[in-house]
Amino acid sequence: MSDRYAVIGNPVGHSKSPRIHALFARQTGQAMVYEAILAPPDGFARALAEFIAAGGRGMNVTIPFKEQAFRLAERHSPRALGARAVNTLAFGEGGIFGDNTDGAGLVRDLKFNLGLSIRGKRVLLAGAGGAARGVVLPLLEESPAALVIANRTEDKARQLAAEFSSRAEKVSGCGFADLSGHGFDLVINATSASLSGASLALPRCVFGPGSLAYDMVYGRPTPFLRQAREGGAAQVTDGLGMLVEQAAESFLLWRGLRPDTAPVLAELRRESAPP
Ligand code: NDP
Repeated sequence: MSDRYAVIGNPVGHSKSPRIHALFARQTGQAMVYEAILAPPDGFARALAEFIAAGGRGMNVTIPFKEQAFRLAERHSPRALGARAVNTLAFGEGGIFGDNTDGAGLVRDLKFNLGLSIRGKRVLLAGAGGAARGVVLPLLEESPAALVIANRTEDKARQLAAEFSSRAEKVSGCGFADLSGHGFDLVINATSASLSGASLALPRCVFGPGSLAYDMVYGRPTPFLRQAREGGAAQVTDGLGMLVEQAAESFLLWRGLRPDTAPVLAELRRESAPP
């Protein structure tokens, strides 16, 4: 019998997580199946309960359920507590355990796949939803010079920054219009705007000379990456590397071993390349 895992979200049809975990399972010889579950916006708790009742062992949680997953988990990892959002659930005798591997995935992609050191850099994080929550602490732990969180709903950005008030000299929250006149070394799009083809109201100047623009969305040309190129960013990248790295962290939690991400990332890039 194979152990059952799934990614749950809405939308979820675009998710590459089933493919990634199938490649990890093949590489490491693990007997597991991994599916995608589309839950209605008000149906997360029910879908979760049904999956557990059917013998599911673990789940990845994606848009828009990460904050709900945090509330439903009975125990949390320190990084999930820091984020108050959960992207990885494990089900066992101790009940529902919630973890957050997004931040570790982003930092591993930036450092090891893209060769970027975050230390001393000025970082702009656009968004204040579940994905943004997951990456604030791991980014701060890399000692940037400053981390500015900007969001369409400004209060959410200020509130998220306030949760890290012990590092208040480093982290602040604002709206997009407040970014006028400020440039950054690393600009991360953690909003879901790209999923609906929407642009962010970012001033052009945020893409400082030599900057790297990173869209967490993957597998499509996005308005954010176009804005970044037009704004003069030196390098632009999508979030496929983060996706593979956060998946590897989830796999490690569930199966106790870390898969080699490089061949899986290369395979996914090959599969998504135009013919
Ligand atoms: P949430 O629904 O929790 O948050 C959505 C965020 O996007 C909010 O900050 C929201 O702002 C903002 N937003 C949505 N639409 C717009 C818009 N048109 N203009 C400006 N801001 C907008 O989603 P998540 O945080 O869970 O996910 C965000 C994105 O990150 C998704 O696209 C997801 O696919 C991607 N992601 C990728 C990962 C990877 O591994 N590559 C991992 C995790 C997430 P407001 O508060 O004003 O509503």
